Amino acid sequence: MESNRNNDNNPNKKPGDGQRPKGNIGTALLITLVIVLLFSWIFNSVEKSQYTETTFSDFLDAKKAGQLAEVELQYDRILYMTKAEAAKDPSQQKACYTGLPSGGDLMALAEELDGMGVTVNEKIVEDNSMIMMILSYVVMIGGLFLVMNMLTKRMGGEGMMGGFGKSKAKVYMEKQTGVTFKDVAGQDEAKESLQEIIDFLHNPQKYTAIGAKLPKGALLVGSPGTGKTLLAKAVAGEANVPFFSISGSDFVEMFVGMGASRVRDLFQQAAKVAPCIIFIDEIDAVGRSRDNRYGSNSEQEQTLNQLLSEIDGFEPSKGIVCLAATNRPEILDKALLRPGRFDRRIIVDRPNLQGRLDTLKVHTRKIKLSEDVDLRKIAQATAGAVGADLANLVNEAALRAVRKGRQAVNQEDLLVSFETVIAGSEKKNTVLTDMEKRLVAYHEVGHALVAALEKHSQPVSKITIVPHTSGALGYTMQMPEEEKFLSTADELRTELRTLVGGRAAEQVVFGVQTTGAANDIQRATALARNMVTQYGMSDKLGLMSTASVQNQYLDGQAYMDCAQSTAAEVDMEVKRFLESAYDDAKRILTENRSLLDEISEFLLVKETITGDELMAYVNAGKNQLPAPETAE
Ligand code: ADP
Ligand code: ZN
Repeated sequence: MESNRNNDNNPNKKPGDGQRPKGNIGTALLITLVIVLLFSWIFNSVEKSQYTETTFSDFLDAKKAGQLAEVELQYDRILYMTKAEAAKDPSQQKACYTGLPSGGDLMALAEELDGMGVTVNEKIVEDNSMIMMILSYVVMIGGLFLVMNMLTKRMGGEGMMGGFGKSKAKVYMEKQTGVTFKDVAGQDEAKESLQEIIDFLHNPQKYTAIGAKLPKGALLVGSPGTGKTLLAKAVAGEANVPFFSISGSDFVEMFVGMGASRVRDLFQQAAKVAPCIIFIDEIDAVGRSRDNRYGSNSEQEQTLNQLLSEIDGFEPSKGIVCLAATNRPEILDKALLRPGRFDRRIIVDRPNLQGRLDTLKVHTRKIKLSEDVDLRKIAQATAGAVGADLANLVNEAALRAVRKGRQAVNQEDLLVSFETVIAGSEKKNTVLTDMEKRLVAYHEVGHALVAALEKHSQPVSKITIVPHTSGALGYTMQMPEEEKFLSTADELRTELRTLVGGRAAEQVVFGVQTTGAANDIQRATALARNMVTQYGMSDKLGLMSTASVQNQYLDGQAYMDCAQSTAAEVDMEVKRFLESAYDDAKRILTENRSLLDEISEFLLVKETITGDELMAYVNAGKNQLPAPETAE
């Protein structure tokens, strides 16, 4: 079911996405403090220059000699003026100051001086006001920074302090990730594609000696939580090289120019420790196509340009491999995908039953499980869940076991946490209800069976009801036996029947029509229209071409190129083609209803079946019913 369920409630957002680093306020306060200290230091030294520094014993001598005229006690020093000084012209007066010996009793001293008839200005109270003054400075300036930070954040910036230096560089480097392919369950195809990169990092000479150019980068494509980061780390772990990671979304919140310099920095650091892996998560945040209709964003563009030039710049023989992850490859700028850049695409799919079972096994390795645990059952219940969900599920179950005061996790823990973790939160767009699953299974088998029972069809190679990265809830893959350049009208009609076979199965078995057929219908309509307007396969319109292809090398879109009345006739012809295909498909499925049921039930249990398994059923059915067309 190539469903077009658009995930509007954006599952791409990871929980941590919106979080900004907490360092800003700290930095602001630190800088404020430094400024305040600087101020008070300058203040103090200006103040000090009006006084002559003396020792405490000088002060005591003056006191003993009765020379003191005026004394001011401060929290850390004593200011005093001798009688000789006090007698001077006020503009010439210069007081002395001395430090205060630790443990000195100011109050006793003040009383003693008072008794001697010396004017004592007690500034002791004012010390507090000095501290208060500093504090108010701090609060004021700190508040100012906070307000400015908030304002700039509102405007989508990173905040005042975001651009200060490289201290906050969100480049993470791990010398050894400690993750290997053993920690990544399933994903065998992705692992296989990455194997070459590992080999290359181990032994670049082997490749350069022969003159082979190695891929500089690969794009890991898959839904969030399917293990893209984990795979990248595993590549670094397997190759035993350092792992640099940065997230594309980090760039977005930066000051203009910061993104580009961060990228430069990243590659410089990486070059120092090469061979290594650079991992850019959420590359779509920087790599978004530059000619989109939302207008350009100069910061993003600058960062992207820098990234491109860095990728072009480094020598592949150095052993830097750039891995990037995204779940929206279609929005990436074409420049990123050009040969020599991220020209390899590695699909990281949602795991099927076996993959989920393996993932559960990986995550329960270190967890005590009680006897009754049946991981296969959990794997069966979690169709559509990704690795991150399963890891979360296992952890929740362990927490629940602890809460219940048990020593080991039992099946109930797993089932309950399945409900809270997966069914509760993700049901909307990934985990299907039983009824939905049945519908998807019948729909897919509908496609496959129509194809399998027809003469001119391409063989089916795989049927699956594991939801696909593209949003399809299941799909039927057909693989031509050899590359074909020409198709006959009969073959195209068969293709039409196969395309509408999904909807036909829904209708025949459940009497319902679902949204899952939208993509099928679109494709069938486009094909029928081409047959009528371009291939001259309609008896009614004959050989006339009624549409022309304008940009064959761009999008290959055809434009109607005929009178309006003819266009209406074309529409009627297209409709007739589709209707006849739909009727045929329904007939085929009705006639082979038992086969349809049998294979669908099998698919519901296995989730993915191969073309051979399908053909085994079909052939067995044929043997029992020598002439299926006339059996009913
Ligand atoms: P992504 O980068 O695709 O969003 P992550 O690699 O961050 O996903 O995966 C998050 C977590 O989910 C991992 O740390 C791991 O615990 C778990 N996980 C995901 N996929 C797998 C897998 N194939 N095998 C084992 N654990 C997985
Ligand atoms: Zn379909």
